[in-house]
Amino acid sequence: MRKLAAGNWKMNGTRASLSEVEAINAALDDTDPTVVICPPASLLIPACEIGGKISIGAQDCHMASCGAHTGDISASQIADTGATYVIVGHSERRTDHSETNDVIKAKAQAAQKAGLIAIVCIGETLAEREAGETLAVLGQQMSGSIPDGATSQNTVIAYEPVWAIGTGLVPTLDQIDEAHRFMRDELLTTLGADAQNVSLLYGGSVKGSNADDIFSVSDVDGALVGGASISAHDFVPIIKALSRA
Ligand code: PEP
Repeated sequence: MRKLAAGNWKMNGTRASLSEVEAINAALDDTDPTVVICPPASLLIPACEIGGKISIGAQDCHMASCGAHTGDISASQIADTGATYVIVGHSERRTDHSETNDVIKAKAQAAQKAGLIAIVCIGETLAEREAGETLAVLGQQMSGSIPDGATSQNTVIAYEPVWAIGTGLVPTLDQIDEAHRFMRDELLTTLGADAQNVSLLYGGSVKGSNADDIFSVSDVDGALVGGASISAHDFVPIIKALSRA
């Protein structure tokens, strides 16, 4: 697996939105890349029941397999819905829930144990970029939040500059290239040859209008898409751009 288009619906969507999953599914053919939709937890089961080519993922998991953790969902419970992916370490979780690299690593480990593929998110803030700290931050987040046992089969990495998420701002192609080359090199030192097989996603204001350019960057294997993944009208052109890349 290398090419992957993942959609993060965040806290959006009700059962009526499942028609968008159906419409995205209907638009896919055998030449398209892997497509993952991560709806809210309330929609995991009905989204999985749609079947077809789309894979379904959750947006977060707890690090424990069960227990007294009100409001949380474990990786094994996610796997029980039929979902196969889980996002961990999204910047909104890092910020809103004070999640540290250690917490994210434990969640990714729980995902591995449950047989899920973890989409581990990393990315610098605007202040960190302006201070020239981008690669140092990415390096710390990678070494801090990617667990032992990570392979190209159970782990995807998403580079999401915090300042590009939901803002309409997108890094230059050179900036994306620099970050993705860095990520691949870091993985080469930890995973060896398997690093070449790990899907590296870019995330942050990806749209149909900028997708071709972003996917032309050599170590960009796909995208993690927020706002533009909620409707087939916006998401399908991104998927088709990835098919062409
Ligand atoms: C995201 O939330 O992961 C994201 C990339 O959002 P958006 O595409 O809306 O910037």
